[in-house]
Amino acid sequence: MNLNNCSMDEFAAYKDGLILQPVWDYLRFNVGHILRSPLFPPFFSLSFDYAFVIIFTFFDLCLYDVPFFKNAKIQKDRQVNWELILPSLKLQFFNQILWIYPMALVQLVWVPDTELPELAPTVWELCSQVMIFFLAFDASYFVFHVVCHKVRWLYRWCHSVHHMYSSPFAAAAQHLHPFELFFVATFITTVPWAFPTHCLTYWTWFVVSQSVSYEVHTGYDFPFALHRFLPIYSGAPAHDMHHMRPLTCFQPWFNYLDRLFGYHISYEDLKKMNKEKSARYGLYDKREVEGLQRIN
Ligand SMILES: [Zn+2]
Ligand SMILES: [Zn+2]
Repeated sequence: MNLNNCSMDEFAAYKDGLILQPVWDYLRFNVGHILRSPLFPPFFSLSFDYAFVIIFTFFDLCLYDVPFFKNAKIQKDRQVNWELILPSLKLQFFNQILWIYPMALVQLVWVPDTELPELAPTVWELCSQVMIFFLAFDASYFVFHVVCHKVRWLYRWCHSVHHMYSSPFAAAAQHLHPFELFFVATFITTVPWAFPTHCLTYWTWFVVSQSVSYEVHTGYDFPFALHRFLPIYSGAPAHDMHHMRPLTCFQPWFNYLDRLFGYHISYEDLKKMNKEKSARYGLYDKREVEGLQRIN
C-alpha cells in the first residue's frame, strides 16, 4: 500500500491493522520526550548492561549453592567471586570513560532529536530486519574473531584481553580491549543504517544483540536455553568452550560457520577424544601465550 497517495480512511485502516501500533502509541505519548533525545540510545544500552551484570552477579555470588543454579553452571568447579569480577568492572569503567561518554557527548552536540514516526513498523519488517542484522553481525564477527586468534600480534595486543577469563560470567562479557569494544559497538550501531530502519526496530536490535552477548557469557546452561531447541544457535555452552579452548567455537551466536570449518566442539566431543588429544585440543602452544595476563 502506498501511504503517500492513500485517503485518510485508508491510512486510518492501515494504522489500525498494525499489531505494534498500540505499544508504539503508548511509548510515543508517555515517554516520547525521552525517546527523542540523542542521549537515549547510549544510555539505554548502558542501563541494559548494568541490569544484566547486576542480576547475574547476584546469581553468581548469592545463589551459587541453589540446586537450580548449581546444576546449570557449566564449569562447576569455577566459582565466581569479587576478585574475579573487580578487574572486569574496572576495565568496563575505563572503556566507558574512553568511548561511551565522549560518544554520548558527541551525539548530544551534533545529532538532532530522533523523529518518532506516527506509524509503528509491521511485525514482519521488525523481525526480518533484526534477523538480517543478527546474521550480518554474527558472520562478520566470526571472520574478525578468527583473524584475532590466528594473527599472533592481534591476539596478543587486543583479543587476549577478553581471554583473561577462561570461565566466563556476565561481567566478563564486556571485558574487552578498547579497540575491540570500538569495533563491536560501531558495527552494532551502524549495521541498521543499511536500511530505512524504524527507531523501534533499531532499539529492538540493541536489546537482542546485547541480550545474546550476555547470555553466551553467563556461564549457565539453563534448561530453557535457546540452543536446546535451536541446534544452530551456539548459546552459553559453545562460548564457554571458546573461553576454555580458545581455538574452537569462534562464531558468537550461531554455529553453522564453526561446523562448516570444523571449529565446533562440544563437551561430549572432548570426552570422546583420547586423553592426550583432549588435553591439548583447542589450546595455544604455551610459547604463543607466554607473558599474557590471566585472571582465571
Ligand atoms: Zn567471550
Ligand atoms: Zn576469542
